[in-house]
Amino acid sequence: MLHDQRQSIDIQAIKPVSAKTPVAACPRGTIGATMPASNRQAHSSVNGMMTTAIVSDQRFDLHTWPGHVEHAGRLHAIQRAIQSAGLFSRLIQLPARPATDAEITAVHSPQMVRIVRQLASYGGGQIDSDTYVTADSWDAACLAAGATITMAEALVTGRCHNGFALVRPPGHHATDTRSMGFCLFNNIAIAARVLLDRHGLQRVAIVDFDVHHGNGTQDIFYRDPRVLFCSIHAAPLYPGTGAAHETGDPRAARGATLNVPLPYGAGDNAYDQVFQQLIGPAIRRFRPELILVSAGFDAHWSDPIGPMALSVNGFARLVQHLLGWADELCAGRIGFVLEGGYSLPALAAGVVATLRLLLGMDAGNDPLGRAGAPEPDVSHIIAALRSQHPLLVESGFQELP
Ligand SMILES: [Zn+2]
Repeated sequence: MLHDQRQSIDIQAIKPVSAKTPVAACPRGTIGATMPASNRQAHSSVNGMMTTAIVSDQRFDLHTWPGHVEHAGRLHAIQRAIQSAGLFSRLIQLPARPATDAEITAVHSPQMVRIVRQLASYGGGQIDSDTYVTADSWDAACLAAGATITMAEALVTGRCHNGFALVRPPGHHATDTRSMGFCLFNNIAIAARVLLDRHGLQRVAIVDFDVHHGNGTQDIFYRDPRVLFCSIHAAPLYPGTGAAHETGDPRAARGATLNVPLPYGAGDNAYDQVFQQLIGPAIRRFRPELILVSAGFDAHWSDPIGPMALSVNGFARLVQHLLGWADELCAGRIGFVLEGGYSLPALAAGVVATLRLLLGMDAGNDPLGRAGAPEPDVSHIIAALRSQHPLLVESGFQELP
């Protein structure tokens, strides 16, 4: 990894193999508009409905960069949509706290952590052509990881049935040694490690439906049989990883990684088939005690950087599957963590539909409708994985006790 070889920061020299987005002009400048003051009072859920927690923080606003698609307005749009849908009074709002150095370095190398901290202390800059750091990004990144831990711990302590960490910057591209792809620290991986190391969980499943492969999460847990990582993503697309033959370390964690790369244009039908025929059987075989979801909404048909064709209803169908498996296997314990999603209307509608389902409501109306174009046939991809993936074939998977 590039960062491992560096003793000092040279931000101009650190470049990705390929960029996630066309390089935008990213001058250092003013921080974007501030998020409306969030209501931090805890609310009781409506009788008979699920108890759902959200964790967010106004200070995520401080990590924003003019002209970049991953900006503070994303969470503003989500906040407005939750408000318009009348959901705030039903949700438990938990305060975020920063992740500690020990929690972050349980997943990331000290050198990588030091680069983010030092770059912020110098006033900000770019780690690569996609990934920026502002003067306040160190604080925002620690809070994003800490908010995700807070949400995950609320699930295991019984404070809520399910939850959604509405965080920025996103995390799933950050590897153990490298911030990349808009991501500084891997929020979901840091939270999963806390569940495993501090709370004694032995099996956690992470499902990643962001349109990009969750390479960072895969790398971090590739040799860890306690974490099943499932990613469904467009291929070929940034970051170029996530092939079907990447199935976990053959000695330590055979079958504990399940990648489903899909062709451009895949939409509601393809994703639903993949969830029913691949992700569901894999999760049932793995028997997780808790499910975490890397919830990116950039597979929506209107996303400016994603080539897929999911609708908001399509995302809702995926969430329904996930909630069903959580009920069946994990006493309902499931936590969502925001990743990508750059069409603000689709992002906001996707999060609202997810929250409604978490609360035990219906998904509501899809304000954007379907893409309309025919979808590619993915049955051959499903058939190949069902016949070859260690977790999906008889006796191909080393069962945990
Ligand atoms: Zn993405």
